[in-house]
Amino acid sequence: MDRLAGQVAIVTGGAKGIGQGVCEVFCKHGASVIIWDVLDEGKQTAQSISDVGGNISFRKTDVSNREDVKKAAQEAFDQHGKIDILINNAGIIRDRSFMKMEDEEWDAVININLTGIYNATKAVLPFMREQKYGRIVSASSINGVLGAFGQTNYAASKAGIIGFTKALAKEVGKHGITANAIAPGFIETDMTASMPQGVVQMAIHNIPVKRIGTPEDMAYAYLFLASKEAGFINGHVLHANGGQF
Ligand code: NAD
Repeated sequence: MDRLAGQVAIVTGGAKGIGQGVCEVFCKHGASVIIWDVLDEGKQTAQSISDVGGNISFRKTDVSNREDVKKAAQEAFDQHGKIDILINNAGIIRDRSFMKMEDEEWDAVININLTGIYNATKAVLPFMREQKYGRIVSASSINGVLGAFGQTNYAASKAGIIGFTKALAKEVGKHGITANAIAPGFIETDMTASMPQGVVQMAIHNIPVKRIGTPEDMAYAYLFLASKEAGFINGHVLHANGGQF
């Protein structure tokens, strides 16, 4: 239970959902975790994990705010003396068919899901380069590969993350840093909670393991790619979807 002992991890969007699952599992495995999230709920999440022995803090941070992300990265470094792992998990949906999509819905999804990953990686990478070690794991999606009705903005952002990851991997590998992505399938979080029951049942029908994924399922995939032992895996997209794709 100490695969990340002594390591420092930033988890964006760690206040709830998959990100919260990642924080719980990383803390169980000995990491010191910093949550970057726009939700004040992040404070309670950090408190409940530290109540059971986790070393975790919350820093209210909007990944789409470049200047603030830079400050947050410097603070994390000043506090811990290093940053080993960046989990680029923060993400939103603003679903609408393309013809009806508002400019704001396109901009918000690209700014948070894709430019947010640029901002966080840009801010953290200099510290990883300096220490010649780092693990960057970013949240793509099955819908970034397959597309989905009403998600031109979301699918574009999640496909962009795959390209970003593969290109970054080629640049940073020589510095002891890896960049990988996880493409979750259908995971039970607030992001999927509003789906009608019929759609959920249909989704389960199409998932060979016959269930929806959990944040914990995703957290163990993140743990693997964030571990030292995954050092020869670089530029990979791990499809974690119960066999749906
Ligand atoms: P969620 O909505 O439960 O949690 C997302 C978190 O990101 C929230 O805590 C939210 O406050 C935070 N966030 C949103 N905007 C932010 C910003 N600007 N700065 C910092 N934090 C911000 O979602 P989830 O289901 O846990 O999804 C996590 C990631 O996994 C997302 O990137 C999502 O696209 C991806 N994903 C989820 C599923 C799924 O089925 N749930 C499937 C594929 C991919």
